[in-house]
Amino acid sequence: MKVCKFGGTSMATAASITNIKNIIHSDPERKYIVVSAPGKRFSGDTKVTDLLYAAYAEQQKTGSAEAVLSEIKARFERLSEELHVHIDWDAEFEAIADGIARSSTDDFAASRGEYLSAVLISKVLDFDFVDAQELVKFRKDSSFDAMLTNDLVEKRLAHSERGVVIPGFYGRLPDRTIKTFSRGGSDFTGAIIARGVSASVYENWTDVDGFMVTDPRIVPEPRLIEVLSYEELRELSYMGASVLHPDSVFPVQAKGIPINIRNTFAPDKPGTLILKDVSGYSRPLVTGIAGRKGNTNITISKAMMNDEVGFCRKVLSVIERYGLSVEHVPTGIDTMSIVISDMRAKHVDGEKLLNDIRGMVNPDSIEVSESMSLIAVVGHGMANTPGTAAKIFTALWKAGVNIRLIDQGSSELNIIIGVEDDDYNAAIAAIYGAFFAA
Ligand code: ASP
Repeated sequence: MKVCKFGGTSMATAASITNIKNIIHSDPERKYIVVSAPGKRFSGDTKVTDLLYAAYAEQQKTGSAEAVLSEIKARFERLSEELHVHIDWDAEFEAIADGIARSSTDDFAASRGEYLSAVLISKVLDFDFVDAQELVKFRKDSSFDAMLTNDLVEKRLAHSERGVVIPGFYGRLPDRTIKTFSRGGSDFTGAIIARGVSASVYENWTDVDGFMVTDPRIVPEPRLIEVLSYEELRELSYMGASVLHPDSVFPVQAKGIPINIRNTFAPDKPGTLILKDVSGYSRPLVTGIAGRKGNTNITISKAMMNDEVGFCRKVLSVIERYGLSVEHVPTGIDTMSIVISDMRAKHVDGEKLLNDIRGMVNPDSIEVSESMSLIAVVGHGMANTPGTAAKIFTALWKAGVNIRLIDQGSSELNIIIGVEDDDYNAAIAAIYGAFFAA
């Protein structure tokens, strides 16, 4: 049996929901359906989840979420009317308004988009509705309880005779309150259900044909990745490729369940297949190129640093105190650089951090740049293929891009290159051109 997850754009309009219906009815194995909240219908539109966060904020500010909730209700009323199903939206929205008024976090509010989507789709398909809070469980400390969830999914769903619709994105804490995953988390719910029912494939239906080799905003119409390994997916999505929530691999990888990214709006296309073992496939040397701008690079110099045992640990302990993520730590004899990805996002006071490092290790100099891009060139094919790095660096040299950092793990799954933010687009285009030019 197959698990199918449909994203926000697939849920946005009556026409896209009709596509969902046709996709499901064309294959009787498509029995477990996970849905997101309705997304944008046109550019400039607002996702239902964002409206729900706004509803919670409105509740906190004014004591009523009524105005925003009636906007969301109108969207669902219109969908059910156009799809010719009857749902008592008055009762549903009364319960939601009540729940939001009683919530001490925004999780309950945010989760209602997926809940309402699932109620609607189960009616449209005439499938059973099973609430995610009965299946997806969190521990008291808010961590996701994978084992308990898996047991519940297996018991409740694996032998279901009828098709089932499950809302994505949320589950429940032991005190019975709702908790959501991070944004985009319905992908993760789909993977959890796929694992629990031992699906033959986890189909993730979205609004693109699959994973592109690189960002189409930089390289127009890049090639599609036909086959990708779990590890390559992790690397690419960590570095910014955003088709699938980066954690979605974990639930399915233990059982080796393939993930198939498909396009709801072009269902005949095969999409991208993500597998545990890609060795049987003939694939290009490089699978994908992804990157992130705006990293912080701190460079510390001190004569005889190399002789000072514990120097790196002391510096890193300061970074740890600020709760920052260290991406790379290239070192020389008398210098050490630290690349941090989330300094801006966490609004850390840079001067204070530098002073703490100064106090800890008394360096000769310390410099900061906040404009480093990291680019990952990913592919199992690169291992044991001499000349891959030469090809990348020649392309960057020809494009006039100055390389600030190079890092290659011994697994040779990826090569990481640091460049200035201003060179980011040129660097991506040059590397793509070197491996994929027609
Ligand atoms: N609706 C949620 C979001 O916008 C979760 C999801 O779509 O996966 O992040």
